[in-house]
Amino acid sequence: MPADRPDRVIWRNGEFIPWNEAVVHVNAVGHASVSAAFEGVHSYWSPQRGQLLGFRFRDHMQRMLDSLRLSWLAPPFDADELVAAAVELLRRVSEPGRDVYVRPWGFAAGLHREQMVPAGTPAEIVIDSWDFESKLGRGRTCTLAVSSWPRFNTNASPATMKVFANYHNGRLGTIDARRRGADWPIFTNGNGEVTESSGACIAVIKDGVVATPDLSSGVLDSITRRTVLQLAEEAGIPTQTRRIDRTELYLADEIFLVGTAAEILPAVEVDGFPIGTGQAGPVTRQLEAAYHDVVRGVVDSHEEWLVPVERARVAG
Ligand code: PMP
Repeated sequence: MPADRPDRVIWRNGEFIPWNEAVVHVNAVGHASVSAAFEGVHSYWSPQRGQLLGFRFRDHMQRMLDSLRLSWLAPPFDADELVAAAVELLRRVSEPGRDVYVRPWGFAAGLHREQMVPAGTPAEIVIDSWDFESKLGRGRTCTLAVSSWPRFNTNASPATMKVFANYHNGRLGTIDARRRGADWPIFTNGNGEVTESSGACIAVIKDGVVATPDLSSGVLDSITRRTVLQLAEEAGIPTQTRRIDRTELYLADEIFLVGTAAEILPAVEVDGFPIGTGQAGPVTRQLEAAYHDVVRGVVDSHEEWLVPVERARVAG
């Protein structure tokens, strides 16, 4: 992403302002960042409909408001207002044929030099966006390594909060995985059970059953995970949300990462063990195709998840 975007606008507290003017004082970062919460949301261009389709915008905005509430910040907008703001932003910045990533986040308003941002501090809300390229259907795969850093204890810092502070652990694990030649880490919890990756959840397939760690294992309540579990059930594929042992990774037929950015990302190796045939498996490919068809508006079976964006008319 270029650092300088004179062509772009950003939404900040109810107003559209030039991207380059969306700045803060240095005292607004540091300790203030600890309480900040964010979202990553996709919108997909639909060639069939000639339209950009926001995916599950309301669920993402509600999760951000829930994270801010748990973080004791007070955002001045509700989920519907934030959905409307994101749609209006996309109306202004999107171009035909392009997929757009939407990045809303909320942080403590004002300058904070003390360690503890007080409860009830008003939150500033911003919504940024940039073009991204979906990898659905492109045959992409990844390799995994169980992180030498365990997942943070969800009773100490709830994994259901999508706060920047929780990503310190994810970053350490990602650097650890990359140093060991893998693409992404898989974190285990204090009981040695599988939780998730640094920015995506995980699903393990054995004998045709799709299993994913339950929320009490210490994972983000991923909206893509929820989506894929529902699509699997609708396709007659059995699913389980339960505790998953580390050895199940090594004996799985198929594994995939699941999340907004990962989409459905097949894993072909974990800690040096090839997964199944060492290639993306048939159940993963079936779910990837089903997810693709929903988010791109090829099928109309889940209109409730899609927010159509009508483009702004170009003046003249
Ligand atoms: N776990 C973590 C730690 C994440 O950062 C993400 C990305 N938001 C996910 C899981 C996947 O969540 P979602 O499907 O809602 O994007």
